[in-house]
Amino acid sequence: MTTLDPATTASALRGVCEIHLPGDPGYDAARRPWNLSVDQRPAAVAVPATTQEVQDLVVAAAAAGLRVAPQNAGHGAAALAADGLDDVVVVRLSGLSDVSVDPDARTARIAGATTWGQVVAESSPHGLTALHGSSPSVAAIGYLLGGGISCYGRTHGLAANSLRGIDVVTADGALRHADATEHADLFWALRGAGANLGIVVAAEIDLIAQPDAHAGMMMWDREHAPAVVATWASWTRDLPESVTSSLRIMAFPPAPELPPFLSGRDLVVVDGVTLEDDDEATGLLEPLRALEPELDTFARIPALGVLDVHMDPPEPVPGIGDHAMLGPLEDDAVAAFLGVLGPGTRSGVTIAELRHLGGALARPHAAGGALSAVPGDYALLCLAMAPDAEAAAAGRAAAADVIRAMAPWTLPTRIPTFTEARSDPATMFDVATRERLTGVRDTFDPQRRLVANHPVAAERP
Ligand SMILES: Cc1cc2nc3c(=O)[nH]c(=O)nc-3n(C[C@H](O)[C@H](O)[C@H](O)COP(=O)(O)OP(=O)(O)OC[C@H]3O[C@@H](n4cnc5c(N)ncnc54)[C@H](O)[C@@H]3O)c2cc1C
Repeated sequence: MTTLDPATTASALRGVCEIHLPGDPGYDAARRPWNLSVDQRPAAVAVPATTQEVQDLVVAAAAAGLRVAPQNAGHGAAALAADGLDDVVVVRLSGLSDVSVDPDARTARIAGATTWGQVVAESSPHGLTALHGSSPSVAAIGYLLGGGISCYGRTHGLAANSLRGIDVVTADGALRHADATEHADLFWALRGAGANLGIVVAAEIDLIAQPDAHAGMMMWDREHAPAVVATWASWTRDLPESVTSSLRIMAFPPAPELPPFLSGRDLVVVDGVTLEDDDEATGLLEPLRALEPELDTFARIPALGVLDVHMDPPEPVPGIGDHAMLGPLEDDAVAAFLGVLGPGTRSGVTIAELRHLGGALARPHAAGGALSAVPGDYALLCLAMAPDAEAAAAGRAAAADVIRAMAPWTLPTRIPTFTEARSDPATMFDVATRERLTGVRDTFDPQRRLVANHPVAAERP
């Protein structure tokens, strides 16, 4: 690792694009990621406004012996910061935020930092939507490059498979277009291993014809968790692929910034999307509705509304996250989950979530990339609010307790977008895929100039 003094970094980078260096008045605001618990201190933060500036920046950083790390909103910042960023320029693409929809081709061209909220706002007037996740503020490219578990995932598969073409600035500063025929190996590698290969400045994605959906959430007090968790677990075993849902145990302190129905509440919530007509959807939801939720919002809603169903926080928050992949949830697994998260327990996690996988998410895509499917029946996600170091340590321990309780049902794999801690790439890619990824990385980044949140073949040659 080369650590440059700020004066050398300044003379290498100033003038290339908007640059924030330690000591600059704007540095603290520029380095702050969406996940406010991550205190990342890179050598510099660059905010290029054009693709040419991205290229110039990559060349200038390399000439100065600095590495570069693409970061958009910083939802996945925890893994990136894991190794320290003393010789790293964090590249924020916030200047590249644009979307244009081709309704006839059912595609959208999105720039590097475009959020899912922007993509759906532009595509829904055409009766189209995208394979977005649960949050409108997550940047589409970061999500797509890490696989992307969509609200429509069980029907339409991993969101990375919706990528048609990618424009990427590689480690030599060249702008390359990668798709099924041009730089096909790079296209394959980007779809899963993302920032290991370059800084993606734009992408073309397939949209789906879905003007609306029968979607919503049901909510109960946590005292009803035994019945709700057992029912949801058995419900998800036989569901058609048209339904993608999740169950969360949520514990909120009283807080004025929360909606009143969440503030100070201990809850169990099921939300989801059903791509069926209203009668069929109503029939499918009957076992949950029979548990008499105190709030039930399931109804036909516009595609834009699907982005709000999961109630993800709209503004940056400080959080500690952990994730495990689970197999089938039979009665013993449900009992273990309730043992740490059921009524009366004090686990310390703010949200413990089970996302139902399977269906099209489990089927590898014939023309897919390094990650085109995920094994497993459920993704377990734990999130603890971490406003300070003490809360972060407690949250980390609490999340680990939940993950440990589910160990007997845990598979040795992880989904990149859900993995907040730096993780062994062997948990994300099999041996053959890792070998092929290493080969592509050797071609496009032989000096290991790019820093990804989840490095593959990170060791320098
Ligand atoms: C509230 C919330 C809800 C979420 N919901 C979902 C969900 O439903 N499904 C799901 O799968 N994930 C979900 N995630 C996880 C999210 O998809 C990942 O954190 C994703 O990596 C976020 O991308 P970002 O650009 O916003 O974050 P960043 O931290 O900016 O980027 C994450 C990583 O992506 C890579 N990257 C980002 N942009 C580029 C680029 N232009 N070129 C090359 N590499 C790039 C880099 O390695 C970077 O370190 C959620 C996260 C949050 C905080």
